[in-house]
Amino acid sequence: MKISVSHIPPDGLVQEYSAKAELFPILDDLIIQGDYVFSSPVQAHLTAMVLANEVVDVNGQITTTLRMDCGRCLEPFEHTLIRKFKMGFVKSSGTDTAPDEDELDIEIREEDIATEYYLGDVIDLKNMIQEQVVMGLPQHPLCSDNCKGLCQSCGNNLNLSPCSCSPTIGHPAFAVLKGLKT
Ligand SMILES: [Zn+2]
Ligand SMILES: [Zn+2]
Repeated sequence: MKISVSHIPPDGLVQEYSAKAELFPILDDLIIQGDYVFSSPVQAHLTAMVLANEVVDVNGQITTTLRMDCGRCLEPFEHTLIRKFKMGFVKSSGTDTAPDEDELDIEIREEDIATEYYLGDVIDLKNMIQEQVVMGLPQHPLCSDNCKGLCQSCGNNLNLSPCSCSPTIGHPAFAVLKGLKT
């Protein structure tokens, strides 16, 4: 998942990467802890372009799928994670220190563009890709925005069938609850 800056043609370089989630240390920790199950590799499709001042603009999309349990009905489902990103990589002049903030007042001040540094000729995209996946992990996954969940009294999955204890539509108390939900 590395780009050699000197090999990026003037009209940009298109790259595809695919790597198992276990190859990313933070994702591997989450998998070991049992927090997330990845059902497909992490895939990145990106374009790299060299701008002025050896700033490299990398943008594209990262996708992967996770097997999760719905927070409402507890049914397992596949969640597709898609992250679009745009990142500016700035060449670091020092060996292990990031350049002064003042030096970076060039054209990367657009607020939605995050900045990272690279040394020499090589940009390693692994950390950035991992970061994007971590930021995209759902905290309270739902199988669908319309998931009806489980009946509070009998535990019936209301997506599959109604149950006799379901509250009657139009009941005043239910209408109030419905209003609060949104
Ligand atoms: Zn559900
Ligand atoms: Zn019920």
